[in-house]
Amino acid sequence: MALLIKNGTIVTAESISHKDILIEEDKISRIESNIFIDGIEMIDAEGKYVIPGGVDVHTHLDMPLGNIVSRDDFETGTRAAAFGGTTTIIDYATQSRGMRMQEALEIWHRKAAGKACIDYGFHMIVTELRNSFDEDLKEMIREGVTSFKLFMAYPGSLMVDDETILQALKISGKHGGLICLHAEDGNDIDMRVKLALASGNISPKYHALTRPPSTEAIAVRRAIALAAKANAPLYIVHVSSSDALKEIEQGKRKNLPVLGETCPQYLFLSIDDIDKPNFEGAKYVFTPPVREHDHQDVLWKGLISNTLDVVATDHCPFNFIGDKEIGRENFAKIPNGGPGIENRLHLLFEGGVNEKRISLNRWVDLVSTRPAKIFGLFPRKGTIAVGSDADIVIWDPTKDHRISASTHHMRVDYNMYEGTKIMGDVTIVLSRGKIIVQEGKWRGSLKHGNFLTRDLFGFQINHS
Ligand SMILES: [Zn+2]
Repeated sequence: MALLIKNGTIVTAESISHKDILIEEDKISRIESNIFIDGIEMIDAEGKYVIPGGVDVHTHLDMPLGNIVSRDDFETGTRAAAFGGTTTIIDYATQSRGMRMQEALEIWHRKAAGKACIDYGFHMIVTELRNSFDEDLKEMIREGVTSFKLFMAYPGSLMVDDETILQALKISGKHGGLICLHAEDGNDIDMRVKLALASGNISPKYHALTRPPSTEAIAVRRAIALAAKANAPLYIVHVSSSDALKEIEQGKRKNLPVLGETCPQYLFLSIDDIDKPNFEGAKYVFTPPVREHDHQDVLWKGLISNTLDVVATDHCPFNFIGDKEIGRENFAKIPNGGPGIENRLHLLFEGGVNEKRISLNRWVDLVSTRPAKIFGLFPRKGTIAVGSDADIVIWDPTKDHRISASTHHMRVDYNMYEGTKIMGDVTIVLSRGKIIVQEGKWRGSLKHGNFLTRDLFGFQINHS
């Protein structure tokens, strides 16, 4: 099987070039000017950008939450990702209390196998350090799961104490893993939630008001101090506020081993959305919450200055009807999470490239290259290079796209960016050399997605 992409503008994190790409089997075999081969399938990419497929390192597919499950499974979620130009995801498996990580990994393998349409890896959420943690973690790393997430929020279910985080950082660091942290002060928030409910403040906006930026910033500060103590790399997921960003900036300035991720919802949505009438605000209930408008610009600046390294989605879809409604009389019962796996490249292109905040190269870097590097997938994923997997998106910068629940492919009954207009759209998506999306039509198949064993953390954190 061979495929030739001709006449396109190849955009990687480092360069822009006008070359042809030959794909043989599932890999890129040649990148040269004017490749001519008779009798093979050809894609004419004249006037289009040819970019490495997106890498979304923060998703929750088929994830149980109380009595419900996030609406996208590995079939619908990975297909929607592909329609949006994402060809690799790393999803969060959860080791519940009383369970070994190996058991959790098997459960998540069963969820994905035979369903995923694009390649996928797993992080492991750790809710307790068992006596066997050192051994179990080594085993995870052998299995290709090289990053581990802990929570400073959600007391009583996911939250762990600082001593546990410190131990996890030390052990993970020793074996070459990466710790991801959900940094919000769970105890402080819990108190605020109880107070709000006791005062009869039950509407969705109190989800945001009981989790002010200070509760995020203080947790980020504690987390960075722990990483410094353990001398182990730390990745802060979904940074949402200028306050938290400032902590990361200071950590980076001191050359501490900290990395930051943000998500489109913090760049495009605000407290105005969660304050919408008729319970509509529930559509925007996720954690950390939406912030006041002025945080958005500061986060964009963080992306420009390298204080933030990655844009991922935290895709965790729940329907408005039936799921979000559980919290009609109590904002604390609204299922936390929002959909976005399909919209990330589009939103970053519009708000970043079209709005002239970031370059084309930085766009590719944020949505593909850097996440692949940080999470041990580079150069197999995240770039266009000879020998890399042929995960490629043909992007038309002149094509209109309008985001809407009526046309999106995510299995959820609303879109957080409903009506947003984008100049630029996906035209063709290849996963390991196979066309899976073409002109808005699905051409992929189940079982195509492979599990990715990831390398140890080896990203050079350069804070200069
Ligand atoms: Zn998440």
